[in-house]
Amino acid sequence: MIQFDILTIFPKMIDSYANESILGRAQKAKLIKVNSHDLRTYTADKHHKVDDTPYGGGPGMIMKVEPFDLALKKIKKGKKTCVILTAANGKTFSQADARRLAKFTQVIFLCGRYEGIDARVEEHLVDETFSIGNYVLTGGELPALVMTDAIARNIPGVLGAEASLNKESHTEEGYLEYPQYTKPEVYVKKGLLKKKQAWSVPEILLSGDHKKIEAWREEQSKKKTTRR
Ligand code: SAM
Repeated sequence: MIQFDILTIFPKMIDSYANESILGRAQKAKLIKVNSHDLRTYTADKHHKVDDTPYGGGPGMIMKVEPFDLALKKIKKGKKTCVILTAANGKTFSQADARRLAKFTQVIFLCGRYEGIDARVEEHLVDETFSIGNYVLTGGELPALVMTDAIARNIPGVLGAEASLNKESHTEEGYLEYPQYTKPEVYVKKGLLKKKQAWSVPEILLSGDHKKIEAWREEQSKKKTTRR
């Protein structure tokens, strides 16, 4: 059982995603637990202020240290806990990180908003700082959910068919999955087209020859890998 604790000023954003689909089922099966925590409840002032102006001047507001410190004091459990700061200037999160973090018993995500979080949080309260890509989002909630999802998939039992995890993109360095198809065999494009368009599944996949299919898939994976 791994517990994810996500510190945010928008806890409902977390709950709506984490209670559906694979994460929702994994929670019901007690394989994972995803808790959202409202940072405003961890403020000492009566206005529940979580942000203030930056020292040295500049635009926007910065999230204060106090709510993160108080929340962590209450939530952080013990040794196998990893506290992760979401930040656009962090190390880029990878599948290898997802696999590694799946071995912790508690993963805590700190979500920033506005212009970010007082740097003393990163200096004193976190174990790792992750970005989910080279772009800036309005908050850390989507990154926290992206990482929670990627980590959870590596916990035995979370995915219905464990086999699908073994053959997925990025499970080995540089490996990208081959293209997949489902019914119908021929899809006729809908819409007001002059000529009918028919898109067929590659014949090899209908051949029933598993050796050839395996070889074709391997070839397609290589093509994908060399495309970038
Ligand atoms: N001023 C910051 C900068 O230039 O790096 C951006 C702050 S951003 C608007 C607000 C919050 O969104 C950040 O504190 C972080 O929690 C989150 N965030 C934005 N982009 C992110 C990314 N690519 N990866 C992870 N977190 C991100």
